[in-house]
Amino acid sequence: MKAVLLGYHAHHVVGADYARNDHRAFPADLELITESGWRIVPLVDLIAALAGGDDGDEKLVALTFDDGPVYDVEDFAHPEFGPQRSFLNAMRDFRDRRGAGAQPGLHATSFVIASPAARAAMESSFDRDYTWLEAGALSETWWAPATDTGLLGIANHSWDHLHPALATVAHSAQARGDFRRVETWADADAQILRAQSYIAERTGGRAEAVFAYPFGHYNAFLTERYFPARMRYGFVGAVTVDPGPVDPAAGPWRLARYVCGHNWRSPEELAAILG
Ligand SMILES: [Zn+2]
Repeated sequence: MKAVLLGYHAHHVVGADYARNDHRAFPADLELITESGWRIVPLVDLIAALAGGDDGDEKLVALTFDDGPVYDVEDFAHPEFGPQRSFLNAMRDFRDRRGAGAQPGLHATSFVIASPAARAAMESSFDRDYTWLEAGALSETWWAPATDTGLLGIANHSWDHLHPALATVAHSAQARGDFRRVETWADADAQILRAQSYIAERTGGRAEAVFAYPFGHYNAFLTERYFPARMRYGFVGAVTVDPGPVDPAAGPWRLARYVCGHNWRSPEELAAILG
């Protein structure tokens, strides 16, 4: 089995072209993935296939979105670059165009930030060189309806992302911007377990038990001690931004992932990743 995780950011809209706008890249990538014989499956199914030691010649892709802007699911107009199709609607467009049989497992996982205060701070302090956000863009009201569609799952991107814009973060040493410093049970529970229960509550208990490391930062405490012990809460995997195909031997707690606009910036570069 070959397995690849692809990451997108719905707030990566700093131009009108593929490299600078994930809403341009994503619909094109759905076609490319399909044309090149890869099967899109829900992230949790891909992780289960890895755990099952599936050694067939299948090529599986899981799609992921980070940070949870409402642009994952709702079309919006960028003041400079105009109307943008949401990722969810791009998936529906694909299904309408190609038929449900083209990618029967069509699905994506959206990693959201739990803390309302963190989301509010991020809306007003985003990096304009890389992102576009506006007031209300990181609301949580879309999480449950998105889950209802069957095309999206909502998963955990930490309590507050240890976001540098916050006056206080949920960490004993206020380690803003550095998730590698989450290395005690208390700090990890404050960032991961608390977020999981918040997100589960807001989605009627349907949160996916997968974590995406903020900034892609992880450490040996999280991958070798914390997550294996916290499997009793249902966690099945944790996702990095280390580019590469998923290595089954690495286990589920530091899953490799390619990021659009960073690890590939054109259809040709994605084609190269997919071989
Ligand atoms: Zn993030």
